[in-house]
Amino acid sequence: MKLVFLRSLAFRLTLWYAGIFSLSSCIAFVFFYLLVSQTILQRIDQDLQDKAGTFSAVLSGKGIAGVKNLAVMEARAAGEKKIFFRLLYPDGEVFASSHMAYWQQIRVEKEAVDQLINNGGAIFKTVAIGPSDQKVRVLYHYAGRGVLLQTGLSMETYAHFFAAFKKVFGVTMAIVVFLSALFGWFMAVKALSGVARITETAEGISGQTLSARVPETGTNDELDCLARTFNKMLNRIERLVKSIVEMSDNIAHDLKSPITRIRGTAEITLLEKADVGEYQAMAASTIEEADRLLDMINTMLVISRTDAGAGDYSFEQTDISALVTSACDLFLPVAQDRQIDFQFTIDQEVKAQADKAMIQRAVSNLIDNALKYTPSGGRVSVAVKHKDRTGVFIEVSDTGRGIDPVDRERIFERFFRCDPARGQGGTGLGLSLARAVVREHGGDVMVKSTPGQGSLFVMTLPLF
Ligand code: ADP
Repeated sequence: MKLVFLRSLAFRLTLWYAGIFSLSSCIAFVFFYLLVSQTILQRIDQDLQDKAGTFSAVLSGKGIAGVKNLAVMEARAAGEKKIFFRLLYPDGEVFASSHMAYWQQIRVEKEAVDQLINNGGAIFKTVAIGPSDQKVRVLYHYAGRGVLLQTGLSMETYAHFFAAFKKVFGVTMAIVVFLSALFGWFMAVKALSGVARITETAEGISGQTLSARVPETGTNDELDCLARTFNKMLNRIERLVKSIVEMSDNIAHDLKSPITRIRGTAEITLLEKADVGEYQAMAASTIEEADRLLDMINTMLVISRTDAGAGDYSFEQTDISALVTSACDLFLPVAQDRQIDFQFTIDQEVKAQADKAMIQRAVSNLIDNALKYTPSGGRVSVAVKHKDRTGVFIEVSDTGRGIDPVDRERIFERFFRCDPARGQGGTGLGLSLARAVVREHGGDVMVKSTPGQGSLFVMTLPLF
């Protein structure tokens, strides 16, 4: 449980948020500290330089005696634990100073004196004295005419600032870490509440509760988009599951009828103690039913393989006009038998890359349907049209009973049969096969229909 919490996104987000916020605050503090300490140091240096300037002026006006007095007076005025002055010869020898009891530890640095003599200007040093390492800023300055000045100023202000800063920093950082963790947690939990809703819905979904949906907030944010996408996915899954259930019902039903017929015929023949002729008739009908079943199963396999892109197709330059003509020739006796006016107009020599056997099967299914669903006295027309840019159009129209608009797209689903067709022979696989085959060729099969007046099926094939 503890591990789950530590691994949870909300916890990790909180950690990130608190970490980044605390780090930013820390950087801001360091920046502020550097800025303020720099300013304090500059002010101390400026003070020291001002004093050195005064010494130079007094030296040139009143000579060495004047600066000696000045050193003592200045130190007294500011406080002898705050500032000191030493006057040196260029060899570093001290010849005058303010009261130095407090500043014993501060020596004259030879190196600084040499540097001053060689380069001139002002040399600053920071020195620590006493058991508490109190910092002192020391200036070496050339006062004039063979006199050097060493003056030091206690950096107490600096130390006070640093101590106060440490206190403020500690307290503020504790508050920042606590508040950022609190806000981070609040924001993470709020932001992830949408994910929790989706998880809840997903967990509650089973075969029976596929209709559950995640409530959409309408805010159009990322989580709302996720919820919408999730719901769309559920819609698709629901449709798919429904069609799988329907399809398996249909398959079961369509397989059941021929098997029941085979069983019935066999049972009657056995019970009636039939003669050889009747046994032969039973065998013939069994073969016929078995063929029908095999045909149905084969068609299902062809459709599934084609849909999965694993169909066994061999494309070659095919004369589509000749192919449709031979299909029409095959159906002509059926049309005559059913007293249907059957016409076909075929453009000369329209060629396309196609699997001949498969396209013939698809075209035959369309013509077969047109003849099957058109009553005697009606008309069925087949036309092959060649359009330069778009490709080949094979049109099969009839004056049959037409298709209800609600069923217009469903007739291409496997095993779907419109109610009026149920009395007639068929498996509901013909149009699914035709569309799968033609789509494999890069074309499509479309339908226009007016119930009671007839239908027009158009098969398109690209020319490449
Ligand atoms: P089958 O013809 O074996 O039932 P199909 O897949 O070929 O299966 O057709 C599916 C359904 O579409 C048919 O059952 C029928 O209801 C409808 N249909 C197909 N072609 C036509 C047509 N030309 N006129 C009216 N209905 C049609």
